[in-house]
Amino acid sequence: MVMGKRSESVKKIYRFPLKQHIGAPAARAVAPGDNVVRGQLLAFREEETLGANIYSSVSGVVSEISETEIIIETDEKQAKEYLPLKQETPLALIEEAGIVGLGGAGFPTYAKLQHPLPPDGVVIVNAAECEPILGHNIAAIEKDPAQLIRGLQIAMEVVKAEKGIIAIKEIHTEAIERLQQALTDERIRIVKLPNLYPMGEERAIIRETLGVLLGVESLPSEAHAIVINAETTCRIQEAVDLKKPLIDKNMTVAGKLKGNRDLIRIFEDVPIGISVGEMFEQAGGLADSYGELIMGGPFTGKRTSPDAPVIKTTGGLIAAECFLKGPEKIGLLVCACGADKERLEQIAESMGSKVVGVEYCKQAHPVKSSLKCENPGRCPGQVQKVLALKKAGAQAVLISNCTDCSNTVMSCAPQLGLTVYHCTDGALRAVNAKLVRRIRETAP
Ligand code: SF4
Repeated sequence: MVMGKRSESVKKIYRFPLKQHIGAPAARAVAPGDNVVRGQLLAFREEETLGANIYSSVSGVVSEISETEIIIETDEKQAKEYLPLKQETPLALIEEAGIVGLGGAGFPTYAKLQHPLPPDGVVIVNAAECEPILGHNIAAIEKDPAQLIRGLQIAMEVVKAEKGIIAIKEIHTEAIERLQQALTDERIRIVKLPNLYPMGEERAIIRETLGVLLGVESLPSEAHAIVINAETTCRIQEAVDLKKPLIDKNMTVAGKLKGNRDLIRIFEDVPIGISVGEMFEQAGGLADSYGELIMGGPFTGKRTSPDAPVIKTTGGLIAAECFLKGPEKIGLLVCACGADKERLEQIAESMGSKVVGVEYCKQAHPVKSSLKCENPGRCPGQVQKVLALKKAGAQAVLISNCTDCSNTVMSCAPQLGLTVYHCTDGALRAVNAKLVRRIRETAP
């Protein structure tokens, strides 16, 4: 893994979708032809709605506005400075900055922090960096642990919490050491998580740190807790101490890159709105052949294209390995914390396989429009589900299960004559990493 270097751009097109968060799209604050500078408000959260402000990360001219996005043609030279925020209090600055959950959820952070916690409440930083390949959160902690600690202290102050926890996987030994050296606040402790997927799931973190297993419809507030992603915590520090709006994003760019070396690259402070294609260029360029481009991590990422913009929730860009040719008939086993049914269907189609059966992990329960796991990462047994897919005529199974459940699938599917494919295979093959299969052979 190496730190990537961003080259300064000549004139480029940057795109800013009006909805990069959970809630209502932001309302436009600029018009076509307007000149804008870095840190200028492009679109704002309307009163009485859940949402987030959106700022320009570049200087340039608004070239186009549609129902869904604002497009800016950048100036040839870009400054690092930005227009500062105007508010004074921490919560108002976090809201004004447009900060949302940067781990992929996109929930507006001010809404998470707007109510004080009970006296025994705790703010937990999710520093699990749970998705394989992604490394930008841990790299940021290793570089500047004090920023994360300061961001956590601000969040604790906002919700009047007396306790803070930094939850981080035990494998990140250097980051843990750096945090321990920087930590002088006795109210904050570090909790080490096992190296399993999905330890970064919100309720898994609460279970591992507080010993409380919340129901699938429960919110962290029921455990008197608030969980905030690691980069979000750092951006809170920037908003409050530096009056910086959310305009930059840390990310990992990986996979089938030219030259076949440095397959995982870390970028810090990438201006939001830059194109996916440009980021791969800055990482050395795409290899001549690859299977697909993924935005996000190997488990939960979605297929993207070179024209798509980097948005607030973009943590990873991965050029996956070319698809293996699948069997004629394949069965899908869907996890609540991994690729969903539609994503598995997309992968199966790319493998040239026909889906003959779909099963869901029995711990995956529908909640609103998605699935939630009853007890994330603790396998309830998958043999029945694999048998059902075999009965449906599948010659192989394509799964998105957590580490523990993938291990269980491996204990039965091969014996039934079924080849096992995992939704993460293309991404992991592209960086020569071990595949998610049996736990003792897997390093997610
Ligand atoms: S137990 Fe099932 S639903 Fe839960 S994380 Fe594992 S595979 Fe996914």
